Amino acid sequence: MECCPIPESSWDRALRLIGRHDEIGLACHVNPDGDALGSMLAVAFVLRSMGKRVVASFGDRHFAVPRLLGFLPGQEMLVPPEQFPAAPDLMIVFDCSTFERVGLLGANAASAREVIVVDHHPSNTGFGTLDLIDATAAATAMLAEQLVYRLGGRLDRDIATCLYAGLVTDTGSFRYSSVTPAVHQMAARLVATGLRTDEIARELWDRSPFGYLKVLAHALERVTLEGSLVWTYVSRVDRAAYGLPYSELEGIIDIVRRADEAEVAVVLKEDDHGDWQVSTRSKGTVDVAAVCAALGGGGHHNAAGYTSYDTVEETMAKFRRELRRVS
Ligand code: 5GP
Ligand code: MN
Repeated sequence: MECCPIPESSWDRALRLIGRHDEIGLACHVNPDGDALGSMLAVAFVLRSMGKRVVASFGDRHFAVPRLLGFLPGQEMLVPPEQFPAAPDLMIVFDCSTFERVGLLGANAASAREVIVVDHHPSNTGFGTLDLIDATAAATAMLAEQLVYRLGGRLDRDIATCLYAGLVTDTGSFRYSSVTPAVHQMAARLVATGLRTDEIARELWDRSPFGYLKVLAHALERVTLEGSLVWTYVSRVDRAAYGLPYSELEGIIDIVRRADEAEVAVVLKEDDHGDWQVSTRSKGTVDVAAVCAALGGGGHHNAAGYTSYDTVEETMAKFRRELRRVS
């Protein structure tokens, strides 16, 4: 395993904290993706095998595992946020770049005695009482793997499935610039447990309800190219016509950002509460994390996001303004 910039003293402190507590609350970011949920569940498996009482959750108002991630093992360890301990002695938070990303469980984190933050976002604000943050890691799952070993755990197929979901999600199937030899070496360790990577790939990338095609068609019909910005939106009304859940929209940005003419791609996705979740991507010259941070979100240089409570037009006006400022 390649060494990482997290100081040994921080890992030691994490192990001491975990060793000292029998009950541990785990959380990951709202609207969890494969990296958030996979990292959390992998560590949950190990803590459970150590005899800890583990609860794992994420702070969404409507608590549901996205269909895409339905294949992840360990979901029996999940509880909705209202069943999460109000003031846990020890809480471990995965893949959250800011406190706000903890969502409804932010109140629990604020009341927790100790909060360990495990994350790889360069924009992480360091809101834990102990931060295990490595911005060079391609996925939080890489840090979760280290934590598994350091806790004395071994990879079994369940843990490997969870970690692989994180690794493959955050590297775009090993396509992004974050992919290093260490990423492939980790993948090799995971695959060696007997993972069916073909089945995982199919679950994550190659299936959707029929309605997705219709909603995608609407989104592409109104896709707009403005100079080096390409953008579109998907409203609640679009989805309602086909009963399509919000979580099915994740892949649209990957289609929109294909436009060669564009340097920055944006997809506005209206969630079930009427708020707009803004997904942004850059091809490298623009730091979309800086744009999104100015608008209340965060993320990575080439992939970032935020929540907007404005209309589509107002959201885009503000986005263009920030984009001009940053570029
Ligand atoms: P996606 O567009 O796939 O939802 O998110 C891309 C990246 O932006 C992810 O790394 C995610 O952590 C970050 N991101 C997305 N939405 C938000 C948000 O509302 N707040 C923050 N801080 N980061 C976000
Ligand atoms: Mn991640």
